[in-house]
Amino acid sequence: MIRRFGHPFVLALLAIALVVVPATVSIAGTSAANYHWARTQSRFRLEVGDNVSGNWDRLLRRTLADWNKNDTVTLNKVSGRTDPKKCRPVTGRVEVCNGNYGTGTGWLGLTRLYLDRGHIEAATVQMNDSYLNARRNKYNTKDARRHTLCHELGHTIGLDHVDTRSCMDNSEDAIFNNLKPIHRDFRELKRIYEHRDDETSVSSASVTSEGFPASTSLPAESIGPDATETVTVQTLDDGREVITFITWAKD
Ligand SMILES: [Zn+2]
Ligand SMILES: [Zn+2]
Repeated sequence: MIRRFGHPFVLALLAIALVVVPATVSIAGTSAANYHWARTQSRFRLEVGDNVSGNWDRLLRRTLADWNKNDTVTLNKVSGRTDPKKCRPVTGRVEVCNGNYGTGTGWLGLTRLYLDRGHIEAATVQMNDSYLNARRNKYNTKDARRHTLCHELGHTIGLDHVDTRSCMDNSEDAIFNNLKPIHRDFRELKRIYEHRDDETSVSSASVTSEGFPASTSLPAESIGPDATETVTVQTLDDGREVITFITWAKD
């Protein structure tokens, strides 16, 4: 019997293979941060849309001030441009949101980076009040809120996890103790942004969220009982990527 490539069975297998290729790849314990905002100068300003309310207002100002002790990027608080319930990305900026996002999926904080060829085009941060401002919840403390906001904002400027006293440490212990960035984070920022790009993705003239996909759902299989954080990468049809950092609550 001669096996021909065009055999219906082979074609069927090929079709199945194309369909079941996973769109989301979990890379828990992600490696070096090789994504960053594109800009033509080493020092730059980045707009941070304020979509927060309640006790997050003061904390956002304080946390931005903590980060702004670095010499590379100045985080500039501006009016928010999204509905905090949805927290949709806006080109060229970071949008920070809070809300009662529920305890169903179990996350404290969520950061999404929208990337095009390694350059961040937009970022969103969501703080989950269902833990961080919920009655009789161990995460309902000023320190846990401050850590989580500091941590997620660090991701939006391209920083990865560290094992230091910094808020970029992602251990459970750090949630209650590591409340600020440290000088080493600032050195890392300097290193990431030392080079100059020939294009810019920061505060571009376009301020629509058009072209970005709807908020992607969280991959259920990435929920691990011991992990304090999961990082997933989703590749879109046009080659762009969405990186999601999920900080889990442990109960
Ligand atoms: Zn670059
Ligand atoms: Zn993280």
